[in-house]
Amino acid sequence: MEETLDKIAAIAKKNNIKAYVVGGAVRDSLLGRKDFGVDITVEGDGMAFGKMLQKEFGGLLCQHSKFKTASLTFTTLCSSKPFALCHSEPFICHSERSEESQHTIHDKSREESLSNKKTIDIASCRKEKYLGIAELPEVGICHGVSLQEDLKRRDFTINTIVLDIEAKKIIDLLDGRKDLDSKLIRVLHPKSFVDDPTRIFRALRFAGKLGFELEPVTKSLALDAIKKGLIKKLSPKRIRDQIVLILKEYERQKILELMHQFGVLTQLGLKLPEDKLFKSIDKNLKLAIRPSDHQWFVYLLGIINFENPSEFIVFTRLELQKIERLHKLETSITSLETIKKPSEVYKLLNNLSNEELLFIASAYPKLKSKILKFLKVYQKVKLNISGKDLKQLGIKKGPLYKELLSVVLYAKLDGKLQSRKEELEFIKKEVL
Ligand code: ATP
Repeated sequence: MEETLDKIAAIAKKNNIKAYVVGGAVRDSLLGRKDFGVDITVEGDGMAFGKMLQKEFGGLLCQHSKFKTASLTFTTLCSSKPFALCHSEPFICHSERSEESQHTIHDKSREESLSNKKTIDIASCRKEKYLGIAELPEVGICHGVSLQEDLKRRDFTINTIVLDIEAKKIIDLLDGRKDLDSKLIRVLHPKSFVDDPTRIFRALRFAGKLGFELEPVTKSLALDAIKKGLIKKLSPKRIRDQIVLILKEYERQKILELMHQFGVLTQLGLKLPEDKLFKSIDKNLKLAIRPSDHQWFVYLLGIINFENPSEFIVFTRLELQKIERLHKLETSITSLETIKKPSEVYKLLNNLSNEELLFIASAYPKLKSKILKFLKVYQKVKLNISGKDLKQLGIKKGPLYKELLSVVLYAKLDGKLQSRKEELEFIKKEVL
């Protein structure tokens, strides 16, 4: 990290630009926590500064012109030295997307921490204007905006502590250090949650994950905003982003408990999961029955109502399919408990995704051994015959092939067939 910051400092100095590390990286390092991403803000043109960094470090630069920000993703030499850089071919992409790029969401950074990829987000010191409740702000002037003015648009005092990269000095203009020491989340002004209700989710996420409390005035402002239904005015996409961030946190259960206490879960039609469900998911994910890219989705399944998935969160078509499948399966879950025949278990579980299987294994511990058997044994059973053999038997090519091969597989799963010869005999008997 230090090596990278030194290089960034040299670039800033050479170009006469004031650059600061801001937000989570400073907050977390002062708390002695491992941080996952770096946000840099510059007094001047952040996008241009991004290009300068890319010249030095290589990697992929994404520019979000609407918000005058850029993200540089590059590959590090080794994961133990998170910011030892290696130079890769520079590449620039431009994005006009609004929602996700406005306040850079570190969805990627936690996943990246496991790989050698790192992202630095670069923003220009700016002023923002909120046009309506729960609407994204309009980015106003960037030119000539000072650090102090930029900090005033931020969410909480603990997120306004910055590191002057060149001077290697902490700058704390809005008393963030004091709140960090007192473990308090404090908004910068009374209209903060009205301007941007996503800050309610952020406040509870930080409180849960850092073990902090909302300072009394901030707490009553948040409760008031919730009571007025402001979170429901956010777009389903923005709510989803916040929920995903929460479910990706290690302390997700604690955060959800706070959301429950504040009445957020009820308003969104979500439920508080039993503590043992998430513990069981944690355990099963560690077993990595089948590694999943969307582990957060397994936790999401634990907070939604299958019958009526929240209308306040946007779901993809595929996600809705999974939810619907689980809803249907809920009714046959007791029969799955009693089913003994491997082929029947296979038929019930084979079209489910990793996330669904992990969820069932966690929510219904009695079924865990059956699911493990399915994954470790039944799913690995392969036939010795194929479509070629069916063709040789004179069977006309078509959807029938799949059906016939499935019937052979079921027989094999139930231990009726041992060899290729037996499989061929079986199919002949089936068709002829
Ligand atoms: P973490 O990485 O743990 O989520 P973070 O504070 O770095 O924490 P980011 O979402 O990366 O979170 O935001 C970076 C900084 O941008 C924040 O520290 C904060 O100063 C500012 N910020 C982010 N979202 C908002 C918001 N909705 N309103 C005001 N400022 C925000």
